Amino acid sequence: MSRVYNFSAGPAVLPESVLKEVAAEMLDYNGTGMSVMEMSHRSSAFQGIIDEAEKDLRDLLSIPDNYKVLFLQGGAHLQFAMVPLNLMKNRVADYIVTGQWAKKAYQEAQKFGKANKIASSEDRTFTYIPDCSDLPISPDADYVYICENNTIYGTKYKELPNTKGKILVSDVSSCFLSEPMDVTKYGIVYGGVQKNIGPAGMVIAIVREDLITEDVLPGTPTMLQYKTHADAGSLYNTPNCFCIYVCGKVFKWLKSLGGLEAMKAMNEEKAAILYNFLDSSNLFKGTVEKKDRSLMNVPFVTGNTDLDAKFVKEAAAAGLVNLKGHRTVGGMRASIYNAMPKAGVEALVAFMKKFEEENA
Ligand SMILES: *Cc1c(COP(=O)(O)O)cnc(C)c1O
Repeated sequence: MSRVYNFSAGPAVLPESVLKEVAAEMLDYNGTGMSVMEMSHRSSAFQGIIDEAEKDLRDLLSIPDNYKVLFLQGGAHLQFAMVPLNLMKNRVADYIVTGQWAKKAYQEAQKFGKANKIASSEDRTFTYIPDCSDLPISPDADYVYICENNTIYGTKYKELPNTKGKILVSDVSSCFLSEPMDVTKYGIVYGGVQKNIGPAGMVIAIVREDLITEDVLPGTPTMLQYKTHADAGSLYNTPNCFCIYVCGKVFKWLKSLGGLEAMKAMNEEKAAILYNFLDSSNLFKGTVEKKDRSLMNVPFVTGNTDLDAKFVKEAAAAGLVNLKGHRTVGGMRASIYNAMPKAGVEALVAFMKKFEEENA
C-alpha cells in the first residue's frame, strides 16, 4: 500500500487516522455487528453518531443555541436554490460574484426573484476580492450572498462584507473548519463537506432559527424547506448516514489537534511554505492578489502551458497528484486542506524547486 499526496480540490484528502478508524470499524461498529452503512438511521447506534457529530461541530465552531445544524443532501448546488426558496420573502437578494460558485448561485437565484450582482471580480478573472465596505446594498434585499473561499480561483474574504444590516449567507465549502469563524455574523453558513471535512454527498447548513419558517416561496418542495429538516433533526428522510459518521470522526480529529485555532496556525504555516516559494521562484507564479490569498486552494502557473502540463505529469509520477488547475483556469492548483500534512506541502515545494532547476 502506498498513499500519494493528493492535492485534489474535492473530493479531497481525509486524515489518515480517520480512514484507519473507519476501516477498523467496517465489519463491526461498536459491538453492533454491522457497519454504519448497514444500520437503520432510526437506530440508537446511529442516533448516537449524529448527536455526537452535531455536538462536536457545535464545540468546534462555538455555534450558539439559536442556530440549527442541518445535515443535508444535494450538494452545495442545492443550497443555491434552497437559500432563495427559503429566504426570498421580498424576492430580492444581493450577490457578490467572486468566482464560478458565486456566479452559479447568483444565476440560480434569478429563477426565484430579482438577484442583483452588487459587486464582481470577473473583470480580472476573479483574481481578487472586491472592496465590500460600502456596496450598494438593495434596501429591500432579503439577504446578501457570498462564496467565502473561492476554490477554483484561490481567493478568500479576509473581512466579511458590510451588509448594512442585511442577513449574510455564505458558502464556505472550501474553507469550512480551516480556521475559527464567528457564526453569529451570518444568517446561513453552509458548505459541501467533500472539500475539507468528509466524503462527498452532504452539505452542512448552519441556519439561524428565526430564518427557519413556513413562510417560503409558494411551491417549495417539502424536502427543500429548512424547517422540514430542522424539525426532524436532519432525519426527515434517510440521511447520508455514512458521511455523517465519517464527518463526526473528522470533528473528533480536529478537536484532538486543538480545535480551529490550532488548525488555523497549521494551515497558515503550510500555506506560507508554498506561497513563500512562489514569491521567490523564477518559474512559478501565484495567480491572485497577495492580500486575498486562500489558505486552502493555491493556483499557480509557469506562464507556458506545455511546461504546466509537463509539471503536472511529472509531479503525478512522483506521487504528487491532482495538481492540474481547474479546466476554466488552466495551470496548476494545489489544494492544501486540513488533512494535507505539512510534509506533503514540503514535498511539493521540493519537487517544484527541482523542476525549476531542470527546466531553467
Ligand atoms: C465544490 C464547491 C461547490 C459545489 O459543490 P457540490 O457539492 O458539487 O454541489 C460549491 N461551492 C464551493 C465553494 C465549492 O468549492
